[in-house]
Amino acid sequence: MMSPPLTRPTRVEIDLDALRFNLRQVRDRVGQDCEILAVVKADAYGHGASGVAPALAAAGADQFGVALVGEGRALRRYGLTQPIVVLGGAFPGEEATILEHHLQPALYDLDTARRLDAAARAAGNRIPCHHKVDTGMGRLGFRPDRLAAVLAVLISLPGVEIRGVISHLALADEPDKPFTATQIERFQSVVTQVREAGFTPHYLHLANSAAIYSRQLAGCNLVRPGVSLYGGLTGTPFEQEVPQRPVMSFLSQVAQLKEVPAGEGISYAHRFVTQRPSRLAAVPVGYADGYNRLLTNKGDVLIRGRRAPVAGTVCMDWILVDVTAIPDVAVGDRVTLLGRDGDECITALEWADKIGTITYEVFCNISKRVPRIFVGG
Ligand SMILES: *Cc1c(COP(=O)(O)O)cnc(C)c1O
Repeated sequence: MMSPPLTRPTRVEIDLDALRFNLRQVRDRVGQDCEILAVVKADAYGHGASGVAPALAAAGADQFGVALVGEGRALRRYGLTQPIVVLGGAFPGEEATILEHHLQPALYDLDTARRLDAAARAAGNRIPCHHKVDTGMGRLGFRPDRLAAVLAVLISLPGVEIRGVISHLALADEPDKPFTATQIERFQSVVTQVREAGFTPHYLHLANSAAIYSRQLAGCNLVRPGVSLYGGLTGTPFEQEVPQRPVMSFLSQVAQLKEVPAGEGISYAHRFVTQRPSRLAAVPVGYADGYNRLLTNKGDVLIRGRRAPVAGTVCMDWILVDVTAIPDVAVGDRVTLLGRDGDECITALEWADKIGTITYEVFCNISKRVPRIFVGG
């Protein structure tokens, strides 16, 4: 039996024109001699990698970055043929998948290097890896002071090819802090050391979105933009100066309207009590969709181009919105949770500021049960 069509109106729309615009800004910034590795980990920051990654590939992204081997395999299923770098590296047991799908793991551990080498040689092949150095993020990577010993081992593993040298910046989104310059210097000296040890890494890469827009990275020939592709790069000076368009709109509809008298408690725990005779709209979205419960009595939505406040507790599947001030609201009206309606716009940064997080997490937390609809070609 065929299942009935799914008609719940709550959905995410992904504007591929805006996505391509944001990619073009990166291209204009870095020029033609630098390749762009589009970071599409975590399902393209919640935007839906199945639509986002092919659109970026068609628009000229040279390579792709994911966090997990499984995410890289998914990109191959979507038809991508570009190099795919697995930024999170290879875990034991993932060697065959890496070989089969031509994935290029970041490499930061010698046991992993030995496993990759053995698997590659057994297959009569080599695995291109990106040699990850910890220049000051303190997360992943070989420490520069241990590098000589590490390189001595790696040179004896012919199945492992050092295709690139990669590091990650800790303070790129605070351009006035001097530590980024320290990381860049450490990176350059690591690259020299890697070359002197006999390796010929083709790609040198250090820059995330914030670094792309705040630094000139001499010597780097690959950049790794993520959040700026989605229009969510924040902080000074980026919000003012970086041309970026939001890609994601989060939309729903008014499902029910009711008139209630003053003094009526609304939603769980009656955290909202009407102060006047009010009109309330029930909207089928909740924290199970990624509408964060911390937006209780704090969030705004847009209806008919006007702001309306969330009234009371955000439920798992529903919010209630006070639409008393908006004339003519009707069941079926579009509700914009994130995005633009007329002159008004609710940005991921507005949410992030209200609930104490960053745009990245707002995007990633839109849950799997919300369909992503790709618009704009
Ligand atoms: C996620 C990630 C990026 C992209 O960072 P943005 O701040 O989103 O541009 C780049 N490099 C690495 C290693 C990452 O993990």
